[in-house]
Amino acid sequence: MLTCTGYAAESARAPLRRIQFERTGPGPSEVLIDVMFCGVCHSDIHQVRDEWHNTVYPCLPGHEIVGKVYEIGEAVTLHKVGDIVGVGCMIDSCRKCPSCTEGSENYCEGPNSWLATYNGPMVPGAKAPTRENSYGRDNTYGGYSNQIVVPEDFVLKIPASLKPEAAAPLLCAGVTTFSPMRHFGVKAGDKVGILGLGGLGHIAVKLAKALGCEVTVFTTHAQKRDAAEALGAHHVVLENDEDAMRNLTASFDFILSTIPQKHDVNPYFPLLKRDKTLVAVGALEPMAPLNNMLTAFHRQSFSGSLIGSIKETQEVLDFCAANDITADIELITIDQINDAFEKVINGDVRFRYVIDLASLKT
Ligand code: NDP
Ligand code: ZN
Repeated sequence: MLTCTGYAAESARAPLRRIQFERTGPGPSEVLIDVMFCGVCHSDIHQVRDEWHNTVYPCLPGHEIVGKVYEIGEAVTLHKVGDIVGVGCMIDSCRKCPSCTEGSENYCEGPNSWLATYNGPMVPGAKAPTRENSYGRDNTYGGYSNQIVVPEDFVLKIPASLKPEAAAPLLCAGVTTFSPMRHFGVKAGDKVGILGLGGLGHIAVKLAKALGCEVTVFTTHAQKRDAAEALGAHHVVLENDEDAMRNLTASFDFILSTIPQKHDVNPYFPLLKRDKTLVAVGALEPMAPLNNMLTAFHRQSFSGSLIGSIKETQEVLDFCAANDITADIELITIDQINDAFEKVINGDVRFRYVIDLASLKT
């Protein structure tokens, strides 16, 4: 066993604080990673505060991990000691179901679905992870810690040209926005709308721009206009600007909502062209009722989307290296994490906090 250090919450209302805990050392096909940096995703806040009603405590979050390989199991061939590597939201899956065999582990149909980097295994309908489940693991603990152990094929290669701390958010925010753009065939020349300019939204703007799209940001904050344009947005619309919304009728090929709370997507369907899709990756909860009178007349679709596969995660990392894209980050020390959570909720971060895990040692 390895004795590790990290920051975890003991309950939905408790702040994160330093804990010591044990991880099982690397098995033959696993990699032990020294965590260097970890992004702070809004999902970490939802999970720590039990907003998805499935949190197991202590909850030690973090699924935008970049680190250095410290040790490898004897059967590992994909990584070597000293490599700079990444870990996203998943560290395993059933490997047998149709989705896994097709390389879409993020839609694993096994009894426990994919194994989350933290707060996993999440058995649908069951509250607590147990050793009896098919992964043979207790609760998993994420990247707000000094080390993590991951099966080698769930470990990503971080291209050398990307700054490790600014690449960390690509492992969740990057792939979560890239995957639906790819799946729904977003291409050069398309008009793309992004709702919410936060951690996911700001990367989505950069990715869509690099794909050659004309990008419009819909924001609740007028003061983000300059930042949106600096990120590459061609147009910025305030979400309550009805005139601007009317002028955009039937103009979009794709709209992506990253809004983290329950929200009304109906006002955005008139903005989509016929046969096009609005994808919501935020708000994993019941949404406001959809008015099918709007969607039916133009055969439009509403879709959810969940992170991305391991293949897509490597693809987005390589795409970002090729297009010189990283996240705009604010580096914090681990003892600033509770304050950082509040600032994310209040929309005060530009645009992703990343924890420097070297600060765990001080
Ligand atoms: P952030 O808080 O960084 O960004 C969300 C942005 O949405 C804000 O910056 C704000 O942008 C806008 N916003 C916030 N509250 C509201 C509101 N009440 N009404 C309208 N707009 C609002 O969060 P992240 O980008 O880290 O995450 C976004 C969501 O995506 C979270 O719910 C997260 O859990 C989810 N997520 C889902 C994944 C999936 O696989 N489906 C994976 C990863 C994350 P502005 O100021 O421009 O209005
Ligand atoms: Zn995330």
